[in-house]
Amino acid sequence: MRLTDTHCHLDLDRFGDDRQEVIGRAQMAGVEKMLVPAIHLESARRLVQLAAENPAVYGAVGVHPNDATSWNMGSASELIRLVEEDRARHASPKIVAIGEIGLDHYWKDVPPATQESALREQLGLAARLGLPVILHMREHADASEGSCSATLLPIIREWVEDLKHDGSEIASRPGVFHSFSGSTLVAQQALDLGFYIGVTGPVTYKSAEQKVEVVKSIPLDRILIETDSPFLAPVPFRGKRNEPAYVQYVANAIATIFGINPQEAATITAKNAARLFAWEEDL
Ligand SMILES: [Zn+2]
Repeated sequence: MRLTDTHCHLDLDRFGDDRQEVIGRAQMAGVEKMLVPAIHLESARRLVQLAAENPAVYGAVGVHPNDATSWNMGSASELIRLVEEDRARHASPKIVAIGEIGLDHYWKDVPPATQESALREQLGLAARLGLPVILHMREHADASEGSCSATLLPIIREWVEDLKHDGSEIASRPGVFHSFSGSTLVAQQALDLGFYIGVTGPVTYKSAEQKVEVVKSIPLDRILIETDSPFLAPVPFRGKRNEPAYVQYVANAIATIFGINPQEAATITAKNAARLFAWEEDL
């Protein structure tokens, strides 16, 4: 198995006591690469360090919509500094995306306008730095369509059109809708914009018929697998702390849905991640 976990919050305190063991278990399970997205600047600084210390760990820097009130005048320059330092330090960069960024209409803590302005600034930053984005999109009451996608998709469409117009290298690999929980129609719109779709543990739940239908509608070469650790543990660990080693259960679910073997599902999704994040593949 050669797996990639494209979304795991290894910098969080939930991994404070056993972070290196968690990374070790993932590698034993065949997880060759783990991508840790930031939720705020402090998290970004922590994961840059984590990525520098662990060859298998990569990172994304950015401010999550639920932390958008922390976005201020200095945030953009701090993110640029982190990316540029990383580029100077590593021949093959460890910071491979801007994220996670986006909109959240589930929690009501951060006003939509505040979320939107942090999102737009970070999209601008991603274009300027030539990095794809990791998008968070969550509807009110976890619906599969609603105000969140209705607001987010036009913003992303405009951004992608600008990338194309400017001849940007990331126009063909603009990013991923992570832990996707939208409808088939919303998935289609994301795919049309060139985005990848991230699939997480809930696809393994008993009640996942609708999610499985959505996944079936996505071409295999546009699917990424992720754990979103420590959240969203797949069956048989549902309700427990999630960790990157469990991404194999998401690969197994993909294999079942598409009628291929787990090995193939792992390899295809690892290749998809390598294409999107432009990192070296160790074959
Ligand atoms: Zn996340």
